[in-house]
Amino acid sequence: MEEKKATWKELPEADVLEGGSSLQFKTGNWRSSKPLHHMDKCIHCLLCWIACPDGAIVVKEGRFLAINEDYCKGCGICAHECPKKAIEMILENK
Ligand code: SF4
Ligand code: SF4
Repeated sequence: MEEKKATWKELPEADVLEGGSSLQFKTGNWRSSKPLHHMDKCIHCLLCWIACPDGAIVVKEGRFLAINEDYCKGCGICAHECPKKAIEMILENK
């Protein structure tokens, strides 16, 4: 006999977080790898800043400044998008 699956109406309610609360949740500890930036190769095009889904690229006066490790989840999109290969992904514990 086929098992009856629950419908969406029968699923338990999940947690709902308040809007505007993302700064409280430092997601950097989710990482298994992290971006290593090479300033000597960087042309400050800021494509990494545009592409980062976590807003973890810090820009000052139109130039790349740093990567905020409190929020970087290590997805590697910045390294993939960088036209100058100025960002390298390395293992988190290196
Ligand atoms: S995408 Fe690469 S070259 Fe452009 S700002 Fe970021 S690190 Fe620098
Ligand atoms: S690895 Fe992902 S989350 Fe971290 S800075 Fe790059 S794009 Fe942003």
